[in-house]
Amino acid sequence: MILDCAIIGGGPAGLTAGLYTTRGGLENVTMFEKGMPGGQIMNSSEIENYPGVVGEITGMDLMTPWPEQCQKFGLKHEMVNIVRITKEGDIFTIHKEGGETAQAHSVIIGTGSSPRRAGFAGEDEFFGKGVSTCATCDGFFYKGKEVAVVGGGDTALEEALYLAKICSKVYLIHRRDTFRSAPNTVARIKRTENIELVLNSSPEEVYGDNMGVTGIKVKNKDGEIRDITVPGVFTFVGNDVNNQTLIQEDGSFLCDMNEQGQVIVDISMTTSVAGLYATGDMRIAAPKQVVSAAGDGAVAALQVISYVDELLN
Ligand SMILES: Cc1cc2nc3c(=O)[nH]c(=O)nc-3n(C[C@H](O)[C@H](O)[C@H](O)COP(=O)(O)OP(=O)(O)OC[C@H]3O[C@@H](n4cnc5c(N)ncnc54)[C@H](O)[C@@H]3O)c2cc1C
Repeated sequence: MILDCAIIGGGPAGLTAGLYTTRGGLENVTMFEKGMPGGQIMNSSEIENYPGVVGEITGMDLMTPWPEQCQKFGLKHEMVNIVRITKEGDIFTIHKEGGETAQAHSVIIGTGSSPRRAGFAGEDEFFGKGVSTCATCDGFFYKGKEVAVVGGGDTALEEALYLAKICSKVYLIHRRDTFRSAPNTVARIKRTENIELVLNSSPEEVYGDNMGVTGIKVKNKDGEIRDITVPGVFTFVGNDVNNQTLIQEDGSFLCDMNEQGQVIVDISMTTSVAGLYATGDMRIAAPKQVVSAAGDGAVAALQVISYVDELLN
């Protein structure tokens, strides 16, 4: 049997694509997810920016009902790691770990991305308890408080500017004395009064107690240690896109990508390959939020319904 649609990844993007494709009339849709459905938000202890959900809720509580809602409309779910997606003629082949394959007329991929860790002591221990990689997600928890930002690229500077509007002070910790960012952004950083530049310095350790982070120790190029008392540390040292399934045997990508390894899509989530749609954190210009990933899944699903209809009728 050839699937109408194969969905790769069961985060907010993939699950929403599953809901909209099945509810929209496609009968043979399978979502391939290597772990528990729900995606990376399952690791979050608190989410308060999903519209309509008021009060404290964990990522797991938010996501738990999503698979059940999809199953009600006929979405099938297979727990397996997908190693590669290929296309020959109009048919996609989904290569599963272990050697089995599935075939599909269309594919919606939403395998997400993973923020890189900076690698200092305490980073893993306090991740989600004061250490964050998302200012849009967690900045509000530090409203009126002081925070530290680690990094010197575009994302670090943009996020520092975002945090400076919410927090009383932002310490921007960067290991060099110049930034790898647009001159205009650097100029905005320099004229923002509540951003203090901590240059030529690298984080040594984030420390805290059972309530969370209480501070960060940084070492400058002369070996001097500075102790900065903050309840929040935001690290922006790069992001790895989970695009491995798109890599072909010859090392090329199945569809067009940008230099950061993100999938190039148009506003309907259409990639350069007919029948292949990319959604959520892995696509270009992704806001990296649950609500936007879910929105992408819905948009892609509506495209798939017309694509499959046109292909088969
Ligand atoms: C700690 C934390 C806190 C956050 N807080 C917020 C917040 O407050 N608000 C907010 O809106 N967003 C928040 N985010 C961001 C949000 O989680 C992401 O933007 C969103 O989950 C992206 O959804 P996605 O479906 O694109 O990808 P993901 O959620 O990353 O889902 C991708 C799925 O694909 C699966 N997968 C990957 N590769 C394969 C493969 N080869 N085969 C099969 N399956 C595969 C993964 O297991 C995963 O389940 C937070 C993220 C983290 C980590």
